[in-house]
Amino acid sequence: MPKEKHPILYNLIGTVLGGLVLSCVLYFVPGAYPLLVRVIKSAWGFLSWRIPTPLWLFALLAIPTIAIVVIAVAAFLTPAHVPEFYSYTEDRLFNAIWRWQYGSSGIWDLASFCQSCESRLVYSDSRALYGPKLTKLICEHCSREISETEGDYDYLEARVKREIDRRIRTGEYERSLPASK
Ligand SMILES: [Zn+2]
Repeated sequence: MPKEKHPILYNLIGTVLGGLVLSCVLYFVPGAYPLLVRVIKSAWGFLSWRIPTPLWLFALLAIPTIAIVVIAVAAFLTPAHVPEFYSYTEDRLFNAIWRWQYGSSGIWDLASFCQSCESRLVYSDSRALYGPKLTKLICEHCSREISETEGDYDYLEARVKREIDRRIRTGEYERSLPASK
């Protein structure tokens, strides 16, 4: 069914053609224009017919309208009320710069960077047969080891998140905010 491929286009063409046909009829057929005016006048007369309407009916109709307006205004204003700590998205931990974002489930997109060259750090978590697991943060650009912590990389990330969370709760994070603020 090829006609169904462009329903919007066919509707548009139909509307334009309909308008053209109506204009031609109004222009060429005698009496068509006054008739149309009369039809519109009667329709308007019907719509603006005055009937006694109790006030409570207006009040009843106003409730959903007010509710919609209140919800719309609330939805519009909500993004402005982001928590103050949302500007805290960078800090120094374990000899590295950590940056992150806030989502509905808390901190995400956590990544570490080199304090000297701003390169994104890579990690290696050694899984030695004996002894604890170790995670090393390495800057490939500076060819140096930035830090070494116990546990795997997931544990290190969780540790950083816990520390960020602690600094937010205690208000310590304010010291790490950019100086421009
Ligand atoms: Zn570096």
